[in-house]
Amino acid sequence: MNDRVLVVAPHPDDETLGCGGTLLRLHQQGAELAWLIVTGISEEFGWTSERVKQRDTEICEVAKFIGFSQVFNLRLPTTRLDSVSMQELINQFSVVFKSFEPQQLFLPNRSDAHTDHRVVHDAAAACTKWFRYPSIRRVLAYETISETGFGLGAESEFHPNYFVDISDFLERKLKVVAIYQSELGTFPFPRSIEAIRALAAVRGAASGFVAAEGFQLLRERQ
Ligand SMILES: [Zn+2]
Repeated sequence: MNDRVLVVAPHPDDETLGCGGTLLRLHQQGAELAWLIVTGISEEFGWTSERVKQRDTEICEVAKFIGFSQVFNLRLPTTRLDSVSMQELINQFSVVFKSFEPQQLFLPNRSDAHTDHRVVHDAAAACTKWFRYPSIRRVLAYETISETGFGLGAESEFHPNYFVDISDFLERKLKVVAIYQSELGTFPFPRSIEAIRALAAVRGAASGFVAAEGFQLLRERQ
């Protein structure tokens, strides 16, 4: 059931913030992990070559640390995903889903503030029909601190109903978070070590663990 796990990340770091502890735990349990990184930065869109190289190094380090056996990096333009047609995105996801054949899928939350997250959610959701992707057994939405809960409106809520005990993995998750040094800020900035630790405590308090990650179960078939 948990053997083949695919996490879909609009940007590198979403996978770690949303499910880093759970991924570390699944890896220790023997699961095979794959990482689909949808967007990337490039010199074409104004990033320095040093920054682009640094990002690639970070991705390698994170992949090694978490234990991803496969990394699919689509390198689509970051913050401009809505300029890519939905059909094109679905086609590219479909190739990855059919190649890896995940059983468990982690997606960004549908109502996150960032349009890239919403677009990625929709494209990935289009690749979950059982008759086209029969391997998929469980689909979970993860929360990304700094994006989830920052949309406005009643529909922007995240309702965690599935919790994973990461008490033994929180410190290692924070080490992975620290690899993305340039994305971190000073508390109360949401992407700070203090805020990430606090969210783990809140999700843990909701589920009876010292530290947890919360997910929204979108579909499961057994
Ligand atoms: Zn993101």
